[in-house]
Amino acid sequence: AKALGRSRTAVFDEALRTEALERIRIAAELRHAIDRDELSVVYQPIVDMRTGEVSAAEALLRWEHPELGQVPPNRFIDIAEESNLIVQLGRFVADDVCATLARFPHLRYITMNVSARQLATSDFVEATLDALQRHGVDPGRLAVELTENVLIDAVGSSLRQLDELRGHGVGVGVDDFGTGFASLTYLKRLPVTFVKVDRSFVSGVPTNDDDRSIVEAVVGLAHALKLQPIAEGVETDDQAAFLQSLDCPLAQGYLFGRPAPAEALAEVSRP
Ligand code: C2E
Ligand code: CA
Ligand code: CA
Ligand code: CA
Repeated sequence: AKALGRSRTAVFDEALRTEALERIRIAAELRHAIDRDELSVVYQPIVDMRTGEVSAAEALLRWEHPELGQVPPNRFIDIAEESNLIVQLGRFVADDVCATLARFPHLRYITMNVSARQLATSDFVEATLDALQRHGVDPGRLAVELTENVLIDAVGSSLRQLDELRGHGVGVGVDDFGTGFASLTYLKRLPVTFVKVDRSFVSGVPTNDDDRSIVEAVVGLAHALKLQPIAEGVETDDQAAFLQSLDCPLAQGYLFGRPAPAEALAEVSRP
């Protein structure tokens, strides 16, 4: 039994070592990703289910490494956050988003994901407004998505930057709404305009009773606070119908479209 225990530990150590090495490799490779043209931004349509029209989109970062292949954001975003590289990546995304907004005037807005460290960078607002201006885009057509935890922790200059962005008309949304353990009082103190109903709840409706209750509560809360609910991860007609019955007409998910290069946004399904 002792020998077995030891070998298990060895296997565990080996796995940790591999994981640590991989993180170091990713951090090193990511440093060159922009210069080497390995990054791109894809867009997932946000559909108004009442009309079938694509009214907005979410920008999602993609990294295609020549040897590692497609590295999913879940494997490099937190590493980029640790090393402050996220600030450069965020500027790359903001620029692509603004170019795409300029190119597709029919889109009401595009949302981009913003991490804590980006918001804490003193020139976040300046850089964002600069990107909008360079592409001649109205700030009202841009929105940022922040997770609950980022919003709750936002104090001092982060909070001021959020207020300032909102003051310019930029939308502010809570990503993965309902997954945090936060008290909801932050919603009153922050300039929030929309909430993303997390896929983990949407995937269970309409069959799972708990998920039904949570989605009902989250959408109801959004309405009560005059925030726009947007459902994420909608994959089936039943989910879409349930959300529509709750008066949550804005949705994104594989049912309507996968994240794809900006070109795909040209093919708007008009009613
Ligand atoms: P997120 O912001 O919650 O984005 C939604 C994720 O769900 C995306 O994964 C999207 O491709 C996926 N998804 C969309 N519809 C469906 C569906 O119907 N079913 C399923 N199973 N999945 C769906 P992705 O692109 O791999 O991104 C993962 C996460 O990485 C994002 O989660 C976001 O937190 C982060 N991320 C992506 N791009 C950026 C970025 O530019 N900046 C920052 N800070 N984070 C980013
Ligand atoms: Ca998001
Ligand atoms: Ca989300
Ligand atoms: Ca999510």
